[in-house]
Amino acid sequence: MKIENPNALTWHFSERAQKLQGSAIREILKITMRPEVISFAGGLPSPATFPIEEMKVAFDKVLTQQGKVALQYGPTDGYAPLREWVANSLSINGSKISMDQVLMVSGSQQGLDLLGKVLIDEGSKILVETPSYLGALQAFSLYGPDFVSVPTDDGGLIPDEVATLGKGARLLYSLPNFQNPTGRTMSVERRQTLVDICARLNLPLIEDDPYGALSYRSEPLPKMLNMNPDGVIYMGSFSKVLTPGIRLGYVVAPRALVDKMEQAKQATDLHTAQLTQMVVHEVVKDGFLDTHIPTIRQLYSDQCDAMLAALTTYFPSSATWTRPEGGMFIWVTLPKHIDTMKLLDEAIKQHVAFVPGAPFFANTPQSNTLRLSFVTVPPAKIREGIEILGKLIAAKL
Ligand code: PMP
Repeated sequence: MKIENPNALTWHFSERAQKLQGSAIREILKITMRPEVISFAGGLPSPATFPIEEMKVAFDKVLTQQGKVALQYGPTDGYAPLREWVANSLSINGSKISMDQVLMVSGSQQGLDLLGKVLIDEGSKILVETPSYLGALQAFSLYGPDFVSVPTDDGGLIPDEVATLGKGARLLYSLPNFQNPTGRTMSVERRQTLVDICARLNLPLIEDDPYGALSYRSEPLPKMLNMNPDGVIYMGSFSKVLTPGIRLGYVVAPRALVDKMEQAKQATDLHTAQLTQMVVHEVVKDGFLDTHIPTIRQLYSDQCDAMLAALTTYFPSSATWTRPEGGMFIWVTLPKHIDTMKLLDEAIKQHVAFVPGAPFFANTPQSNTLRLSFVTVPPAKIREGIEILGKLIAAKL
């Protein structure tokens, strides 16, 4: 029998905390961790790509040669040599990014929270893509904004819609490369139009780009940051090109915003771990990513092809899906009457998992959509899992 503790507290959470909800995806992930499940649900990079040996060598070198600095508190804006490396790697297409514009953060997810803290008031209008990255919706939600959904098509966000929707808004959150959740990419022309419209509206344009380097077939498209470094807030991450466990990302923005975010970050965690920043700098400084990233691209591209082929073979012709040119995700749209939350229950019984699309919508959800990740599942298992899903869908037609 459970004995109640008479001294147990009754919690009175803040109004802000009462608005918090766990991510639907994290709940699904708990189920899909079971080894028998073929999971297309996770947004996790493939552990086969983690540079374990290089990290080991770098940890050893940093601790041996600079242990007293690495294990000490550090500056809030980050480890200067790594900020400089980030600034140099983004100084492309004729634009110069200075290290003063770079704030290192504990994963770009922290950057999203800090942006929410310094730019959003209760009721502020903010623009997001339809659908958008769930983690950003969650981070921004905490500050009570009014989400305005910007329409998208196969070419991603439609910039002309921003000209009217964006008036008086606080920010526009965009994902131009291999978007999470759809895998779509915005063309160079659309990027330029969007940058121009946002500048005209005095609207801060967030360019969240954790997947940009994972382009399968061509060189990555120009970044909006380089089209207007004074109006674009760029967010990058080491999670998808090195490892997510080190929790390291960066925000590149005009200095006035970096100053404000730095103050907010001081209150949050003082600074991102000096040790991991120094280790990552040690790993990347001599060009390791130039040889490492192509191996990730190859693996993901092969598995993406395997999933696209399986979808063609096993999914009914009334389903449609995106054809990503990079990144980790395919987005599927089923006939309108199929609710993918219910489909997930049936799929899990047959040991296959995916993420239903509804949570990715800030406003009206499209419950007949779903997100598939192909990066952690080998091709034979991809075929097996997609065949099972295809049969479940066909039974509903
Ligand atoms: N933005 C997007 C679009 C993402 O998909 C993710 C990770 N799933 C993040 C930001 C957060 O990445 P990080 O690991 O750098 O916090």
